[in-house]
Amino acid sequence: MERKLETICIQGGWKAKKGEPQQLPIYQSTTFRYETSDQMARLFDLKDEGYFYTRLANPTNDAVAKKIAALEGGVGAMLTSSGQAANFYAVFNICQAGDHFITSNTIYGGTYNLFGVTMKKLGIECTFIDPEWDDERIEKEFRPNTKCFFGETISNPGCAVFDIERFAKMAHKHGVPLIVDNTFATPINCRPFEWGCDIVTHSTTKYMDGHASQVGGCVVDSGNFPWDQYAEKFPGLCSPDESYHGLTYTKAFGKMGYMTKLVAQLMRDLGSIPAPQNSFLLNIGLETLALRMARHCENAQKVAEWLEKNEKVAWVNYAGLPTNKSYALAQKYCPNGTCGVIAFGLKGTKEEAIKFMDSLDFISIVTHVADARTCVLHPASHTHRQLSDEQLMEAGVRPDLIRLSVGIEHVDDIIKDLEQAMEKM
Ligand SMILES: *Cc1c(COP(=O)(O)O)cnc(C)c1O
Repeated sequence: MERKLETICIQGGWKAKKGEPQQLPIYQSTTFRYETSDQMARLFDLKDEGYFYTRLANPTNDAVAKKIAALEGGVGAMLTSSGQAANFYAVFNICQAGDHFITSNTIYGGTYNLFGVTMKKLGIECTFIDPEWDDERIEKEFRPNTKCFFGETISNPGCAVFDIERFAKMAHKHGVPLIVDNTFATPINCRPFEWGCDIVTHSTTKYMDGHASQVGGCVVDSGNFPWDQYAEKFPGLCSPDESYHGLTYTKAFGKMGYMTKLVAQLMRDLGSIPAPQNSFLLNIGLETLALRMARHCENAQKVAEWLEKNEKVAWVNYAGLPTNKSYALAQKYCPNGTCGVIAFGLKGTKEEAIKFMDSLDFISIVTHVADARTCVLHPASHTHRQLSDEQLMEAGVRPDLIRLSVGIEHVDDIIKDLEQAMEKM
């Protein structure tokens, strides 16, 4: 039965059978017991299905992965120990040394480093494009060894909305999948698969958890990309894997080929699984995701409008404002609202911006976003403090940029707190 997202948030994943716990149990066990040696052997021969070791599969982790797959409308999902691991696995599952991929340059700083520095050391090259370039200019960057295209639904911290349909068409024209990091929008506000995206990733650390209680990630597959049509491009998926019974993933598992390789090969060998305890916490967060996203967006819209009218504010970047350059894309992809994160700049010096932040009452200074509690970060004095103003501009971070993550407290109190801190500047 087709269910609405609000229902999947609560009812997806774990289903208690007769006499079982109503709440998802934490299977905090490395391993699972069998009664005969033959039973265990059949698992390893892939003749029977069952749990045997938590690095490969765990009932708590699997239930939460299933819920997220249902929320995104995918065929399957795999949880990882962080969002960083999710983005690495999603790309590394189809790229190897000598390959190349293309990414939007308006992506999270951690992902920027992962793609531009660390993956380069593995022999995988990445080209950063500006999504505002025209098609012709971007298409010139595709090479014979290009294996995927990557972007963020709503970029962190730039708040730019990614034109998913446009880039899905472009990627497919060149025979490669589109991977979208849907962390900020969440499936409540945007479902990238409905616009042609092939693979979705998440940092579940953010809105999905929503309470700053665990670091986690997720990869979801739509099951739609026709790997076998481009078999020579994706040998890892379309030819036998000697380390896995000589099976060919796409032949043996069909629409689950990409997911099966992700778990049976990459997770087996690299092992960045979440603790079942963390998946349990994530699941509790997911139960209220739809409720929270609506409130985050409602509050952020009011705060953004208030900031825009405030004479102490130099500029505001929030896709829900009609004056914003991403407004039209936001209306298309996130008609119910984008997220709670706003970037803005104050008039005056960096010191005054610091005075403003230090004067905030309950709004806290933390290296975190997308949380129930309102929080701020000033990249120029925190995450990017080693850079000069010039270098900051090059990295796309204005020296006066304040990232404000609007929480779900009463909006009047959030505005009051901002207002009293601005008066002290
Ligand atoms: C935070 C974040 C990540 C990294 O996730 P971690 O859980 O911190 O490893 C990746 N992408 C986006 C958009 C993020 O905001």
